[in-house]
Amino acid sequence: AKSDGRGVWRFFEPEMDARVQARRALEIDIRNALDDGNFEVFFQPIVNLRTGKSSVCEALARWRHPKRGLISPDAFIPVAEETNLIIELGDFILHEACRQCVTWPGNVHVAVNISPVQFRRGDVITSVVSALDRSGLPAHRLEIEITESLLLENTAAIRTTLENLRSLGVRVSLDDFGTGYASLSYLHHFPLDKVKIDRSFLQDVEVSSRSRRLLAGVASLSSELGMSVVVEGVETPRQLALLKELPGVDEVQGFLFSPPIPACEISSFLAAGSFD
Ligand code: C2E
Ligand code: CA
Ligand code: CA
Ligand code: CA
Repeated sequence: AKSDGRGVWRFFEPEMDARVQARRALEIDIRNALDDGNFEVFFQPIVNLRTGKSSVCEALARWRHPKRGLISPDAFIPVAEETNLIIELGDFILHEACRQCVTWPGNVHVAVNISPVQFRRGDVITSVVSALDRSGLPAHRLEIEITESLLLENTAAIRTTLENLRSLGVRVSLDDFGTGYASLSYLHHFPLDKVKIDRSFLQDVEVSSRSRRLLAGVASLSSELGMSVVVEGVETPRQLALLKELPGVDEVQGFLFSPPIPACEISSFLAAGSFD
């Protein structure tokens, strides 16, 4: 129990206190890791179904912790977002992703995840322009991935930022489509180039014709609306075979082709050729 200074005693739950402390410790760790250069960018290839080649690589943040090893983004992105550290971390990822992309063969694009916090609190346009300038990457090779929650805010400022990104020549993709509350109507209310259909849509496609029809419907509708379609989380050859049958699907991403790999491995991966 603690006194609040006015003679009133408040009782704190010990677990809650521990949770708050753990979060605060993580925040300090992230701050230090940014200063020490312990974040790095992995890349996962996305494959074009028509050519069988990698057309894009998605940048995925990793924390190379000196004691705990490689830490995945689910363990630090949420706290980075709550503490606004995502703005600095996101800038680093964006610059690094563009810097790597210029070295890749075959004009492969790079896709970078941008948190809603960066849109709200940061200056996305300035960050993007500076990353393109400093790396020399042509704008059309950069794809920005946004999530449905950003579109739910539906503010004029966000719409304007998306339009400005597109007038620079940068492409905008809607990530994890189908997991949130955004309905299909968002697809034509916002300026989007690409839709990434969440891997949950692949879950039962091998055994359920209803699941196959749902996926087919979402893919063809997105495609009809003029967007290019990516299906995420392809893990089996059978899933790939089914996706090849769907007319709306342009690109596929998943462990079947490659997990996210370190930047130093991606060039040779891309040079190695195509998938069938
Ligand atoms: P996401 O943007 O949906 O990224 C795809 C995630 O799915 C990656 O997880 C990837 O490793 C995983 N994945 C790819 N193929 C498969 C598959 O076939 N099966 C399964 N089960 N998973 C697959 P990762 O790298 O752990 O990233 C998790 C999430 O963290 C990302 O989901 C994204 O929301 C967030 N994230 C990662 N890097 C960044 C970043 O630089 N900025 C922001 N704002 N968020 C990031
Ligand atoms: Ca993504
Ligand atoms: Ca996704
Ligand atoms: Ca299409």
